[in-house]
Amino acid sequence: MMASANTLCARIDAVRATIDRAAKQYGRRSEDVTLLAVSKTRTADEIRQAVACGQRAFGENYASELQEKSAVLADKALSWHFIGPVQSNKTRLIAERADWLHSLDRERIARRLNDQRPEQRPALNVCIQVNISDEPSKSGVAPEEILGLAEQIRALPRLRLRGLMAIPAPTDDPAQQRQAFAQLRACLEDLQTRGYELDTLSMGMSDDLEAAIAEGATIVRVGTAIFGSRSG
Ligand SMILES: *Cc1c(COP(=O)(O)O)cnc(C)c1O
Repeated sequence: MMASANTLCARIDAVRATIDRAAKQYGRRSEDVTLLAVSKTRTADEIRQAVACGQRAFGENYASELQEKSAVLADKALSWHFIGPVQSNKTRLIAERADWLHSLDRERIARRLNDQRPEQRPALNVCIQVNISDEPSKSGVAPEEILGLAEQIRALPRLRLRGLMAIPAPTDDPAQQRQAFAQLRACLEDLQTRGYELDTLSMGMSDDLEAAIAEGATIVRVGTAIFGSRSG
């Protein structure tokens, strides 16, 4: 069911309050944590409502949805983040429509995006997705493969490597949540000590965003806590 506009604004405010609280608790500045509203399976109308509540950054998992919604909402100055697995026949759509890609995990995809990024657009911001806790999902590179992929991306002028992303195996235990996020942060710091200028840790979702903020998240990707539970 579609939430009423008031409910949606109240939920977004509540998530922002959680971010503020966690930032304060862990000695971070809340303006250093971007709230990405994950709008996969939601309608353009729901996104429009969220925009009316002040939300600007949206995350999509499917290229067809990114295409459709970014076209319908072209009148708004929004930031579109692609966060799902990338199929090679969908790279052109992503290169044309997205401002960010969080889920880069293969050189072949990086090359296609680089070649297909329109000239009039700035370089595509990308994060390497890391498989941090041997997640059942096959997405993401192993930690020892990060550096190799980062070197390949560095050679591609139409991509701008910003940092790392992970979706750790879900757990209710805050200590375990933090441990996985701390691992991703260590991977980022390793790249930084090797001279990479990176500023992004995309980690934390509806159920673990406080642990992610504790460990340095700069983008939290929140779907359910904003739009309600997904049917299907
Ligand atoms: C769906 C999704 C989210 C949002 O998850 P919620 O638990 O609904 O907040 C975040 N990141 C990715 C990659 C997703 O696919």
